[in-house]
Amino acid sequence: MEAEYDAIIVGAGPAGSHTARFAAEGGAKVLIIEKRQEVGSPVRCAEGAARRSLQEAEVIINPKWVSGEMDGAMIIAPNGNYLEVDESNAGDEVGYVIERDLFDQDLAKVAVQRGAELVLKCACTGLLKDENGKICGVKVNHMGEEKEIRSKLVIGADGHESLVGRWAGLSPKLEKNDIISGLQYRMTNLDINHKFVQFFLTKEFAPGGYIWIFPKDETTANVGIGIILSEIKHKGHLKELLDGWIAANPKIAQGKIIDIVAGGIPVGLPLDANVMDGLMLVGDAGRQTDPITGGGIGNGCKAGRQCGLTIAAAVKANDFSAEFLQMYEKGWRDLLEERLYRNWMAKEACIALDDDVFNKIVTTLSEVGIDEVNVFNLLKVINEKHPELVEAFSDLI
Ligand SMILES: Cc1cc2nc3c(=O)[nH]c(=O)nc-3n(C[C@H](O)[C@H](O)[C@H](O)COP(=O)(O)OP(=O)(O)OC[C@H]3O[C@@H](n4cnc5c(N)ncnc54)[C@H](O)[C@@H]3O)c2cc1C
Repeated sequence: MEAEYDAIIVGAGPAGSHTARFAAEGGAKVLIIEKRQEVGSPVRCAEGAARRSLQEAEVIINPKWVSGEMDGAMIIAPNGNYLEVDESNAGDEVGYVIERDLFDQDLAKVAVQRGAELVLKCACTGLLKDENGKICGVKVNHMGEEKEIRSKLVIGADGHESLVGRWAGLSPKLEKNDIISGLQYRMTNLDINHKFVQFFLTKEFAPGGYIWIFPKDETTANVGIGIILSEIKHKGHLKELLDGWIAANPKIAQGKIIDIVAGGIPVGLPLDANVMDGLMLVGDAGRQTDPITGGGIGNGCKAGRQCGLTIAAAVKANDFSAEFLQMYEKGWRDLLEERLYRNWMAKEACIALDDDVFNKIVTTLSEVGIDEVNVFNLLKVINEKHPELVEAFSDLI
């Protein structure tokens, strides 16, 4: 580790490593610091990733981390009716189930191969500021040793609890409706359709969220629940709900748990600003996760690419001002922002829906079919047949 870099990226998740790759490719001197001793481990993810999103972000697809290629996704109503979608009409949502630890490690490896430096067991403990209060690096604890490292830019890619965002004053605290609490079992000996990811809508077992099955092989899958924090009524509630749903589904109840994952997902509105003089936020730290699906891998990589390109351009121009960094702000917002807003509003409206409405919505959609799956198109189709079902969403149609 040297004393000074062009950019220090805090966090070697997908957003941080992908940012580092594009910055390094563009000639910037980049350091990634990661507090864990191993990139990508332990995994906190259901491991679904849309092929199209990864391609658009220019992620180099490596068969090593592709656990399974899906034929599509099923959105399943409480009464068992379902809507089937595939890459032709839901390309931004379906594609791969991945090995998330190998995926994160591969992205970090590519970044290092392109010239970035990666230091593990190195936790960022604060921002460094010069005599004028301008950000000029980070304070770290590297294997027990306190250090200061200087840089022209600091990138917060430190996940949904981003301290960098808080220290910079860019990330307000998330409301309880804007955090999904997730719990997942890796289960085996299941009787599943291993070519489809499945999303179960059920107010009874997943109020303000959904239950998922993401297959890992013919008989193994990630079986999880994600619901908004405000719906969690007591300690252990999430586990009770997931266990209750599993017990009610014999093909899943016959399975055995081989791994447990828990974690939070930010599903709030985008931040007012992801940049300031000398600093940018990306990925979950930049609140770029999809509020409806909770998916953040594709968006983090797309925004990371924009962020990395901006770092390289800023170094060439020797300009690290918020004004110059608008290149990133504009770039990622053009790609993602409208959808993030729309899906946030849809998420808010969905919280109030009951199982009867979910049944009618899914039945209508499966009967009518849909050319391209997004919140706007889904609502339009339902509105034509059952306007009363989508009254709560009128602002979105
Ligand atoms: C249960 C669950 C299931 C999910 N399922 C999916 C899914 O199927 N598909 C999908 O697309 N998304 C899913 N997500 C969301 C997805 O995991 C995140 O959106 C994604 O990880 C965001 O990537 P990131 O690089 O922004 O942050 P992260 O992957 O969280 O990486 C942040 C990194 O920063 C490091 N770090 C944090 N603080 C510091 C510090 N102070 N100093 C140094 N390093 C630090 C962390 O150790 C971590 O490695 C899921 C999330 C959960 C919790």
